[in-house]
Formats: sequence, C-alpha cells, structure tokens
Amino acid sequence: VPGPRRPREAVLDKLKPVVTKRWLSPGAWRLDVYEQLDGYKALRKALKHSEADLISFMKESGHRGRGGAGFPVGMKWQFVPDDGQDHYLVVNADEGEPGTCKDLPLMMNDPHAVIEGIIIASYAIKASRAFVYVRGEAIHAARRLRNAVREAKEAGYLGKDILGSGFDLDVVIHSGAGAYICGEETALLDSLEGKRGQPRLRPPFPATHGLYNKPTCINNVGTIAAVPHIVLGGAQWWKDLGTETAAGTMIYSLSGRVKRPGQYECSMGTTLRELIELAGGMSEGHELRYFTPGGSSTPMLSADSIDVPLDFDSVSKAGSILGTTAVMIFSDQDCPVVSCWRWIKFYAHESCGKCTPCREGNYWMVRVYERILSGRGQLSDLKLLESACKNLLGRSFCGLGDGATSCVTSSLKFFRQDYLDYIEGHKQPLFDAEKIGAH
Ligand code: SF4
Repeated sequence: VPGPRRPREAVLDKLKPVVTKRWLSPGAWRLDVYEQLDGYKALRKALKHSEADLISFMKESGHRGRGGAGFPVGMKWQFVPDDGQDHYLVVNADEGEPGTCKDLPLMMNDPHAVIEGIIIASYAIKASRAFVYVRGEAIHAARRLRNAVREAKEAGYLGKDILGSGFDLDVVIHSGAGAYICGEETALLDSLEGKRGQPRLRPPFPATHGLYNKPTCINNVGTIAAVPHIVLGGAQWWKDLGTETAAGTMIYSLSGRVKRPGQYECSMGTTLRELIELAGGMSEGHELRYFTPGGSSTPMLSADSIDVPLDFDSVSKAGSILGTTAVMIFSDQDCPVVSCWRWIKFYAHESCGKCTPCREGNYWMVRVYERILSGRGQLSDLKLLESACKNLLGRSFCGLGDGATSCVTSSLKFFRQDYLDYIEGHKQPLFDAEKIGAH
C-alpha cells in the first residue's frame, strides 16, 4: 500500500465484528450454542414492543439495506400496508454478483441470526409467512437454514404463538435454480411463484403487489441478520458505528491481489487503503491499479480512489456505487480490458432476454471485446462500445442491463490506453482470432 505503514493496532482497530462476531465460534449454527451467545434475546425484547414501535426504532437506527441499493429498512417496513390482507416477508439470499461472498458465510456460520431477524421483521410488518430465496448452487446454505428453522420451531421460536406473544410465523426456505437475474427482486418473486424468473414491470411495486399479488417486503439476508444486533445494541449504538449518513458496519468482501482475501466487517466508510492493510497488504510484487467498490455492476475506480471512504455517499461522489461491497482488487499485472470482457460475457450469459437492449447489447459487446483482444480491433470499436452502453443504460428493463455498462464506461474513462494498446498492436493479442471466430 502506498504511503507510510501504520501500527498493527491502528489497522486492527478498524475491524468491528458485529454481524460476523459468531463466525469463529465453533458450532454457532446450532441452536444450543447460538442461545449461549445471546441468541434469541433480541426476539424476546422485540416482542415486548408494538409493531409500530419497532418500525420507528428501525427508522431511528438509520439501518440501510445491504443488498446493493442501500434503501432505509424502517421505511421499507413501513411501506407494507396494514390493511388486514395476507402479506409476506421475502428474504433475498440469491447472492450472485461477481465478487460478492458475504451472504453464504453468513448463512453457514450464523443461520439462526437470519431466522431471528426474520421473526422480528415479520412481527414488525405483521407477516405470518416468510420466504428465504437461496441461490440454487448454495445447497449447503439452504440445508443449514432448513435445519435452523426446524430447531427454532421445536424450541417455540417459530410456529404458533411464538414465545406466548400470540404472533404466528412460518418460514419457508426455497432454493432457486442458479440464475443471476433472480437476485432482482421482482424476478425473484416470479421464480418463487414457480414461473420463469424475469423482472416485472413497476409500478405496481412489491410493497403493495408482491408475492402472489399481496403486499410483500423484500430484504437482503445481510440486512435481516443485522436486525437482532440492532435491537439488542440500540439505535444510537448502530448509528455510532457508521458515518453520519450510513449507520452501522458493513462486511467488505475482498478478493483479488491481496495477501489475505476474505470478509472484513468494518465500520461503514472504511477506505480501501485500510482494507488492504487489514488483508495483509497487496500480493507480493503487485501494485494497486483499479478496483470495484461493490461488484462488477459498479463502475471501477482507479488507485487514486484508495482513500475514498467506502460508504454510500462518498463512493457515489467518487463516481461509483457502494453496491454489495464486493471489493475486487486488481494490480499493475491485470488488464482492465480483459476484466471487462469476462464481466460482459457473464452479463450476456445471465441476461434473461426479456428486453432487446440488454439481450442484444451484451451479446454484441462480447463480440467487440473479442475482436479487440484478438488484435483485430479498430478505433471505431471504442465508439461502438460507448454507443452500446448509451443504448443500454436507462433503456434496459431492469438493473442488469444498466449494471453491465458500468465496467465498460469506467474502464474507457480510466484505461483507454489499454484498449488502444491492443488496437495499435502494442500488446500481444489474448487469443487467436481464427480460433474464436473473431471478425
Ligand atoms: Fe432481462 Fe436484461 Fe432486460 Fe433485465 S435488462 S429484463 S436481465 S434482458
């Protein structure tokens, strides 16, 4: 990391394990161990308050969604109309954003925190049924959650008249089929209903017309797992852990060219420099060149942004999005053109095909990248990529199309010369044009 080395204590002080605090406790995924570690205390506390009080409390805590959009949680809970009809809580555990790896360890290490958060949230919005939509490939996480549901039911935390409060709740763990688009909340709802997972037209919004056309609150699994901690710690405590506009802690998933990649839970607003220090520094012989603050759908930032606080507002001021805090770190030995080609291939593959800009745009961008990387690119290809992005951004049906443009436009802004190096023949082509059929 460029700049003077800071003392180890100062570096470690940035770590604030709250949601991750039980991850290293052996067997914390079992109910008996979870209960020894303050498990289900928050639920007992929450059930002593009214539903409206809980919503006000959550609003006061400033807790914002951890799934990418950062929407205020209390406000989302309040949107669900209390009109006597059935309504649902749906937990989005379809983690699939490239680089993101915070929800799986959470479900594996602390499944009861998810269940406890679900019970509190369902109580607040008066839902009698909750669903957890788990990514299809994560069979192990779904099994662990199902086990936690069974244990919670046997102990009286789920089912009829929870802890004598008169509140009933059933939780269904549903495995998806492994489609990235089902992380989009309305596609998730369609998939949960047994249909092909494709985004719905909005409005109407899920808060009023969600699952089975009933009012539905959709929260990310990380958002929900933080709820018991906030209830126990208090709204002010949660606020004080973060910045003025972003309360609490965040799990930053570090991957790429660092010595110790992994999940680091720190206060909101921790900088990349501090995260790299926590991860033991850059890998030997590598120098930071660019990074994504929140997965491949967020514009990449150059090494100049190493001191930008990674919170919602500061990252957006720097020209990107906090997203899922999947911090992918690239060095002077990585090529931004190759990174983009891989990501666009991913988006082309995962496009659900419902709208033309995304279905066609991503397909053709892959072709252009392959032409450039095989040494047959032309200057006009850069304009073609820019034009494709212009026709995708804001014209796609859902966020997948918009997100796909992020890496292309940001890499063209910061690393245009890398594209030119392939086009002008200064860089060795990545593959043989004949073999891949580039033209
Ligand atoms: Fe489907 Fe892409 Fe259109 Fe979203 S933007 S609806 S993923 S085709």
